[in-house]
Amino acid sequence: MADFEIRNLHVSVEGREILRGVSLALDKGEVHAVMGPNGSGKSTLSCALMGHPSYEVTAGEIRFKGRNLVELEPDERARLGVYLAFQYPTVVPGVTMANFLRTALNARRGYDGKDKSRAITPREFRALLKEPMQTLRMDDSFLSRYVNDGFSGGEKKRAEILQMAALVPEIAILDETDSGLDIDSIRYVSEAINGMRGPNLGILIITHYSLILQFIKPDYVHVLVNGQIVRSGGPEVADALERTGYAEWAEEAAAGQPEEEVE
Ligand code: ADP
Ligand code: MG
Repeated sequence: MADFEIRNLHVSVEGREILRGVSLALDKGEVHAVMGPNGSGKSTLSCALMGHPSYEVTAGEIRFKGRNLVELEPDERARLGVYLAFQYPTVVPGVTMANFLRTALNARRGYDGKDKSRAITPREFRALLKEPMQTLRMDDSFLSRYVNDGFSGGEKKRAEILQMAALVPEIAILDETDSGLDIDSIRYVSEAINGMRGPNLGILIITHYSLILQFIKPDYVHVLVNGQIVRSGGPEVADALERTGYAEWAEEAAAGQPEEEVE
């Protein structure tokens, strides 16, 4: 049994079934890529894994640390060590990055606002962020800005990876962290993520394009089309996709669908 297992996951959004039986087993220490065309259900998968309330799991399980995550709230999943970098990070006016990160870190440590000895000290906080901020080319002024407020696309994505570096998750789901990034930002982000790779972290990179996979070498690649994984394999699957695009596999997926579901 793998460290993190998605078993036959079915997810509906506004009553429409988007994921139609997705299974995937991820061990810590591994990087898996999920690739798929727009609308295939990639963000639906990431949101369902984290417990977004708009995404209803109608069947299946998400097993991690002996629990079924489907039964847990998003904050409980986060405390267990699951992290999601959003495709479209939310702007939080009035809350600085520093406050946000400190609060998230304290929550992860179980600091409830009472026992001050459990709270992260300013010194620890600075030390923790120093290296990832350097790698991500973020200067200190970032910390005094409101979360994602007025951030460029690239800055938002880098802020997501900074949070990941601070929170030290065991399972990280990165939803199109590469989209909207220029090539330099892809490099910085990849460098930061590669720096976090290791036996205590499993990564699910969700992407449309294979470019980021040239920087972050995946161990496994899964192709998601129409809410189902139509192919899984090694890095060569991404290379094949690069050549052929998704069209061929989209046809296969459509051919395998019951008649009434074909639009
Ligand atoms: P991807 O991330 O692969 O582009 P999504 O998971 O965002 O795909 O979307 C898959 C399908 O689910 C699309 O048809 C999309 O319109 C629908 N969908 C996703 N999220 C929502 C939502 N919050 N409300 C309504 N429809 C949604
Ligand atoms: Mg998406």
